[in-house]
Amino acid sequence: MDNASLKPDQPVLQLVEISRSFTIKAGFLAEKKILRAVEDVSFQLMRGECLGLVGESGCGKSTLGRLCSGLLPPTSGQVLFLGRDLPEAGCGSWARGQIQMIFQDPFSSLNPRMTVGDSVAEPLLAQGVDAKVSQEQACAMLATVGLKDVERRYPHEFSGGQRQRIAVARALVTKPHIVICDEPVSALDASVQAQVLNLLCDMQEQFSPAYLFISHDLNVVGFMCQRILVMYLGRIVEAASRDAIFSDPRHPYTKALLAARGGKASTETILHGELPSPINQPLGCTFHPRCPKAVDICRQNLPPLKEVSPGWMVRCHLA
Ligand code: SF4
Repeated sequence: MDNASLKPDQPVLQLVEISRSFTIKAGFLAEKKILRAVEDVSFQLMRGECLGLVGESGCGKSTLGRLCSGLLPPTSGQVLFLGRDLPEAGCGSWARGQIQMIFQDPFSSLNPRMTVGDSVAEPLLAQGVDAKVSQEQACAMLATVGLKDVERRYPHEFSGGQRQRIAVARALVTKPHIVICDEPVSALDASVQAQVLNLLCDMQEQFSPAYLFISHDLNVVGFMCQRILVMYLGRIVEAASRDAIFSDPRHPYTKALLAARGGKASTETILHGELPSPINQPLGCTFHPRCPKAVDICRQNLPPLKEVSPGWMVRCHLA
């Protein structure tokens, strides 16, 4: 089924109360500890939309991206791709190549010993497409991202921006339903960032994949996305349209991210301190040690994610 044949209001991906934890042991005799990377996350990714996921480094965004792609199984909860359980679907041929990823560092995501033509053709071969057809489609996709006649060259022969174009071609060559973009422009210069963001917009217009766009940079997410999820210590703390988030943020953490957006002060400066460790999460609202609005109840009870108006969810006792 291609993207055009899906209904506009059809979710391509649904996360239902997803959690993911890891057992950590620092040394041979050290006590085992639980790192709660993602806690009780639910959302839908609709056909052809660009959904932003924003938060500080270490908040669990990338783990959530890997859960959405099927690279990592959840500890609990369900990931549904086109209504079917993703781990099961990921093993079957029908879903192969339908959820693709673009990573922050295009150099490490491309095999240095493969020509870029072979790298881009590889996902098609994995789907069982004939080798000659795969190469033709890879060359055509490379031309679409602005790189003509480069299929015999190797990744080290390209600039960072060009390598990210190759990564985009590799992700889009199978015409996937979903592309998880994990900090895709964070490693690039500002001028090149704009080119790659525009390329991702062009590719979405042409091929209609849904993007889950992960970034620590609210400016970039605001440029790309119609809807935004704000994540803090593994939980969604605010979910709303871009316009709502930018004009009237309800969660104190979202307000801090917006205040840090101009680059004059970091989120750590505005909030007085760094993100706590996901191994030792604060009791009550996990944001309370940094929150300028915290009151007694915040130190005792975890607030639920509640709907404050249609389509607008906030996890805060005072919202
Ligand atoms: Fe701040 Fe309390 Fe709201 Fe948490 S629940 S964000 S600590 S006001």
